[in-house]
Amino acid sequence: MSTLITSPAQTINELLATAAVRSAFQFFEANAETITAQQIAISSIPAPPFSERERAEYLAAKFQQLGLDEVAIDREGNCIGLRKGNSLEPMLAVSAHLDTVFPAGTDVTVRGANGKLFGPGIADDACGLVALLTLAESLKSVNAGTEGSILFVGTVGEEGEGNLRGVRYLFTESPWAKRISSFISFDGPGADRIINHALGSRRYRLSVAGTGGHSWTDFGVPNPVHAVGRAIARLVAYPAPREPRTTFNVGRIEGGTSVNAIPSYAAMDIDLRSSSEVELQRLDAFFRRAIREAVDDENSVRRQGFPPLTLSLQLIGERPSGQTSRDSSLVQIAVEATKVLGFIPRFDQASTDANFPISLGIPAVTLGAGGASGNSHTLEEWYEPRDRASGLKRALLVILGLVGLTQAD
Ligand SMILES: [Zn+2]
Repeated sequence: MSTLITSPAQTINELLATAAVRSAFQFFEANAETITAQQIAISSIPAPPFSERERAEYLAAKFQQLGLDEVAIDREGNCIGLRKGNSLEPMLAVSAHLDTVFPAGTDVTVRGANGKLFGPGIADDACGLVALLTLAESLKSVNAGTEGSILFVGTVGEEGEGNLRGVRYLFTESPWAKRISSFISFDGPGADRIINHALGSRRYRLSVAGTGGHSWTDFGVPNPVHAVGRAIARLVAYPAPREPRTTFNVGRIEGGTSVNAIPSYAAMDIDLRSSSEVELQRLDAFFRRAIREAVDDENSVRRQGFPPLTLSLQLIGERPSGQTSRDSSLVQIAVEATKVLGFIPRFDQASTDANFPISLGIPAVTLGAGGASGNSHTLEEWYEPRDRASGLKRALLVILGLVGLTQAD
């Protein structure tokens, strides 16, 4: 391919005209059933949060078979494999997450019915993981040479309390940190969405403790449940802006032992989100002030001589916000690849592995890996492989658009 500076549309059109890309496209069509069988195999390996090892080892063995270099499971548990180009720059990391939201012991058997596959994690993100393997295999099958290099990564800890630990490690402490110039996460289905906007969140566990007592005789002892109630009342009065979208949720409360006992303990879990870092910080500051004032209020009406309540606040999750500009070449190439396959690009925001590189200013997006799905994060999760090839074709075009195709058989 030409090394002249070309527009993203030209880049994609030139790629489409190559024999390598055409035969990789055929590879996706011809191997549809094998790809689906591979996805079922991946999804059938349990990968609860913080226990992704078995699935990582499976992926590492596949990376080896596909001839990737420097295959390893890193210290955090991510599975890595490098496909070297002429140069280690630019280095594009393509990833999918190993973990599911489902706890150990969940039946992860995949069942098929009416053209759909049912199984916890079958789409989120066995669909992305099988895309990684298929993309690496297609590049191998057409013997594609590239200018830059591709780092294949199965990440740990994308979901919930995993708190992006895998991608965080990759970009901060791993040997690949500082070498990755752009990042794509394949997560879920579809061939039209481009998630370039990272939805940030902060999650807290608030605990309030006191001495407790008898509801009648000790009335006047400060009550942790009352304090939590006061905090909730303050939080829900927050005028969250609709744009940029900002939300809060008290998702869990606990405390107390009996209707006629003043509790000695109460706690709640809170999720704060915004598509804007500024708004997230504003909401966060309001929340911290609100809980302090709520506990102060409860303490201020206590009977003399009783000790005050104590408050502790634990940050249990933090995901940064931000966005990869629509003018960036990563997004532009993704847009052109989407269009050329006959889809209308749909920009979106979400909380994914791309949040972390985005927060570092590294161009990153999350793309679907083709097909359709529903009931994500439930035991009724399903995936439909119909037209999966479109998602894989788009992925291939974006990857080659970024690292540059040099030669092929
Ligand atoms: Zn996911």
